Amino acid sequence: MLQPVLDKRWSERRERASELTERWSFAAEVLHFYRALLDAQERAFDAALGDRPARDQIAAYAMERVLPSIIEASVASGPPGMTESVLTAFHESEFEPTIEAWLLGENLSAVERYLARASAGPVLEALSSTFDLGQKRDDHLCPQCGGPPQLSYFAPSEEDLVTAHRHLLCSRCAWTWKFPRLTCASCGQNESKELTIYGEIGTTQAELSENIIKARSSGTASKLPPAHFPHMRVDGCKTCSKFLLSLDLERDRRSVPVVDEIAAIPLSLYAAEHGLNKIVPNLMGF
Ligand SMILES: [Zn+2]
Ligand SMILES: [Zn+2]
Repeated sequence: MLQPVLDKRWSERRERASELTERWSFAAEVLHFYRALLDAQERAFDAALGDRPARDQIAAYAMERVLPSIIEASVASGPPGMTESVLTAFHESEFEPTIEAWLLGENLSAVERYLARASAGPVLEALSSTFDLGQKRDDHLCPQCGGPPQLSYFAPSEEDLVTAHRHLLCSRCAWTWKFPRLTCASCGQNESKELTIYGEIGTTQAELSENIIKARSSGTASKLPPAHFPHMRVDGCKTCSKFLLSLDLERDRRSVPVVDEIAAIPLSLYAAEHGLNKIVPNLMGF
């Protein structure tokens, strides 16, 4: 009989959320809420690994088996106003079609998208390695489920410890895949003059210096406080006006990309103030 393999991703996310709550006070509220969701999501992930619902059963499975505990955690730990909006969305809509719409990438209200993603996301994450799309998708979409990327990260590969390869991480199923370094993860633009990078002073990378716009511009380098996000930056595109956050795992080896991306609220707001839309808002809506 097969034994379940202990999956460390949930404990890593919990630990990182606690660590960043201490480090980044501006993200404490959203991380507290996210941490409460992780317990429900881990149970959903484990259950889905055992139950293995078929692809066309995922929406029904997520609604019956996961959504109640997501609503419970949202009411208990969500921000003020969350209880009412969650319960209203739940009562007003047939939720299985809503989850199915999320799986198909259709437009939903923010609260519907949140509930669908929080419920079905961990089910997809448990099963995505078994999916077979049966067709070639664009490189910027997840090869397993067809979802758009939430973030990108740079990590040294096992076969080549010198070069950090760029990966995208799926916003639906958390699958990761390799992607070219200087290419827009939304429209595929690869002309460097069309790509805009924002990073805090001290966080920039030499290869990108031509396009870097500093997020902090006052004071001398020696007087600047340490950067909040030394391992993160905004990767934007003038052609499609989209962006995503990129992480350099070499610069913070404790980084857990999905958690850091949620916590880096100021970077997402900065990009939005400069006319960029995130390819996909994260689970917490930023
Ligand atoms: Zn995916
Ligand atoms: Zn683009």
